Amino acid sequence: MASIKDVLQGADWKLEKHVPVIEIQGAPKKAEQVKVSVSVGKEIPHPNTTEHHISWIEVYFLPKGEKFPYQLARFEFGSHGASTQGPNTSTVYTQPQVALSFKTDKSGIILACSYCNIHGLWENSRELIVE
Ligand code: FE
Repeated sequence: MASIKDVLQGADWKLEKHVPVIEIQGAPKKAEQVKVSVSVGKEIPHPNTTEHHISWIEVYFLPKGEKFPYQLARFEFGSHGASTQGPNTSTVYTQPQVALSFKTDKSGIILACSYCNIHGLWENSRELIVE
């Protein structure tokens, strides 16, 4: 019996950056929007080709002391160079870099998961303090 958590990778691997980097803008306060950005390949770009790319990012929020996370967003990256002319011919490539905002009165942990079509699942997390 295997589990998703057995195949989730959290540390950088070789020179590629698969880990979704989570950034929180400012110092969030209750009743205000928490602005979050998530990107893969922030320092060393991840390849973005028809054959090798980031397919999606999901973002969750786990309030402090709670058991179940809330899914905040799911972003699908649909263009990776393919066209009717073949792989890597369209010149259109979606960048795995997203921004979202949400509201909460609670502090907790923001979790992100990303998926590379050939290197699998990667995760990261960041503490959110709401004052
Ligand atoms: Fe990869």
